[in-house]
Amino acid sequence: MILILLGPPGAGKGTQAHRIVEKWGIPQLSTGDMLRAAISSGSALGKKVQGIMDRGDLVSDQIIEEIITARIAKPDCKRGFILDGAVRTVGQAKMIDKVLKKHKRALDVVIELVVDEEELVNRLKRRIEETRAAGKPVRADDNEETFRKRQAVYREQTAPLIPYYKAQGKLRKVDGMGTVAAVASAIDAILDEFAAE
Ligand code: AMP
Repeated sequence: MILILLGPPGAGKGTQAHRIVEKWGIPQLSTGDMLRAAISSGSALGKKVQGIMDRGDLVSDQIIEEIITARIAKPDCKRGFILDGAVRTVGQAKMIDKVLKKHKRALDVVIELVVDEEELVNRLKRRIEETRAAGKPVRADDNEETFRKRQAVYREQTAPLIPYYKAQGKLRKVDGMGTVAAVASAIDAILDEFAAE
């Protein structure tokens, strides 16, 4: 099963992806995590993307193509995978379609987490406070200003994926404002349909 989780920053894609990994046994491909790992390792790629990510802008489609193509070719992706925040522009969506076709595979479903962006800002503020209180480091792009910028980038560059996937008949919407458990069960109901095929 190959699925995309779509939704603005802070919608809970990562939380749901981790849960899907456990329940369905397929890996989560988060380009954000891969890019943060590149920054932590001090690699050339990390140096190239750090400023872009700190500002809340998107890295180039070419960088995403390189990291996604390499990742999809790994054996653990054979049974399927979750693209978590890994498709952010229509150009990337076309690239993924092409790469999957080359592997004789296809995307099964795109799940959009529908959320209230103002409420997400409030959630972010609470998360920052909790992270600080726990003495853990706060992500460099986890501040209100950058977060609002990332939301605007989502509206401008990523939201056009919604009509793109709708036209392919692959889009399913889930209310992302419920509890983690409620969102999880709505997602599982969709994934059950595909697992049964
Ligand atoms: P995330 O953790 O998915 O919110 O990603 C954090 C940041 O990494 C984003 O704000 C972008 O700067 C960058 N990024 C992650 N995935 C992509 C992608 N598919 N295309 C472009 N930029 C990305």
